[in-house]
Amino acid sequence: MAMPANDLLEHLWLPYTQMKTARQPLKAVSTQGALIRIADGHELIDGIASWWTACHGYNHPHILAALREQLERMPHVMFGGLVHEPALKLAARLAEKTPGDLNHVFFVDSGSVAVEVAMKMAVQYWLNQGRSRPRMVSFRYGYHGDTMACMSVCDPDESMHSLFKDYLPKQILAELPVDEASEQAFDDLLAREKEKIAAVLIEPLVQGAGGMKFHAPETLRRVADACARQGVLLIADEIFVGFGRTGTLFACEQAGVTPDILCLGKGLTGGALSLAATLARPHVYEAFLSDDPARALMHGPTFMANPLACAAANASLDLFEIEPRLEQVARIESLLREGLAPCAKIPGVLDVRVKGAIGAVQCATLGDAASLRATFAEQGLWIRPFGDIVYLTPAFTIAEVQLAALTSGICSTLPGWLSRS
Ligand SMILES: *Cc1c(COP(=O)(O)O)cnc(C)c1O
Repeated sequence: MAMPANDLLEHLWLPYTQMKTARQPLKAVSTQGALIRIADGHELIDGIASWWTACHGYNHPHILAALREQLERMPHVMFGGLVHEPALKLAARLAEKTPGDLNHVFFVDSGSVAVEVAMKMAVQYWLNQGRSRPRMVSFRYGYHGDTMACMSVCDPDESMHSLFKDYLPKQILAELPVDEASEQAFDDLLAREKEKIAAVLIEPLVQGAGGMKFHAPETLRRVADACARQGVLLIADEIFVGFGRTGTLFACEQAGVTPDILCLGKGLTGGALSLAATLARPHVYEAFLSDDPARALMHGPTFMANPLACAAANASLDLFEIEPRLEQVARIESLLREGLAPCAKIPGVLDVRVKGAIGAVQCATLGDAASLRATFAEQGLWIRPFGDIVYLTPAFTIAEVQLAALTSGICSTLPGWLSRS
C-alpha cells in the first residue's frame, strides 16, 4: 500500500487506535506549562495534561532541577537488595500524606501494575491465612488498567476490553450503592459471596476512563462500611483521582475512608516519568510476615522505585506543599462550571458535570472521536474525546485565559459537530 512520503506510522503502533484508518498523529517537539508545541510550529493548549498526569504543568523548574540533580548522581539502580534516598524519602512522605495508616509502600512502574500488585496482595493476604478467596468485586463503568488481570475488573460490557470476556478470570460485577436500596443489594452480595471474595476495588468519587462518572462521598462510605461489616478488603484505585484532581489531595479523604490497599500512579511524578505505588495498611502487611519464605510478596518489577522517577515524585510533593495547588483546583472547578454551563443547552448534550479539576460533557453520541480531536487541534486545543464524552482535566497551574479558550472551544464546536453526526 502506498504510504505518504512522510509517514509517521511506518513503525509505530499507537494506543487505542485502528491503525488501518489512523490519521497521521501530531508530532510534539516540546512542552511548557499548559502548552504542547507541534513540529509545524503550532502550539496546543493542553486540556487533559497528558492523561491527567502533568498536574503542575509541563517542565516545572522545580521538578526539572530535581531530575537533573538525580540524573548526575544515579539515574537507576536495582531495588533488589538495594534501596536509595529518593525511595526512602518518598515512601515516608506517601505514608504520611495518604489517609490513615497506609504505611507500607510497594513501588512499581505503572498504574496497571500497581493494580495487579494490589490484587495479588489481596489474594495472598487470604492465602497466607490458609483461605482461598480468589474473586474481586468491581463496579459498573470501572476502569483499572489494560493488563490481563486489570481487564478482568474493568466493566465487562462498557469497556474497550469486552472482546476478552471469555479469556479473563471471572470476577463479580456490582452496582455502586448510590442509595439505600442499592446499598442493601451490595451488602447482600458481599454477605452471600464473601467466602470467595478477596477484595472490592473502587475508583473513589470519579470513574475516569469508564466515562468520567461521579459518585458522592456517601457512596464511597457505604462501600467501605459494607466491606468492613462483611470482612472483605477494600482496594482504592486513586490512580486517576489522587494528587488533588477531585479537590482534596486524595479522594478518599472526602468520605473519611482509609482503604486497606491504595493504588497511586499518573500524577505521582507530576507527569515527568512513569512511577506508581501500592500502599498497604499494617494488617495487610503483617499477613505476609512469616518464617516461611513462600509467604513473602513475590513481585519485583525490574525498574521499580526508579531513582529518577522517585526524585520527580518528591519534587512533585514539594510543589503540593509550597504552591497553592488545592486552591488552584477549587478555582478551576468554578471556572469549569461557568465555562461549560452553556453546553447544557446544546441539542445532543445529555449532561455537563464538574468535580475538582475535572469537567465532562456527556453527549447522546459523539461519532468519530478522532476527527473531533482533529477539529479541536485545528483551533489550537488539545482535547481527546472518547466514547460519548468530551472532557477537560487540565494542569492545576493552567492560566485562566487558557482554560477559557478550552471551555469556549468546546461550547462553540459541539453545536455544529452534534448536529452533523
Ligand atoms: C490510568 C489508570 C490505570 C492504569 O494506569 P497505567 O499507568 O496506564 O497502567 C489504572 N486505574 C485507573 C483508575 C487509571 O486511571
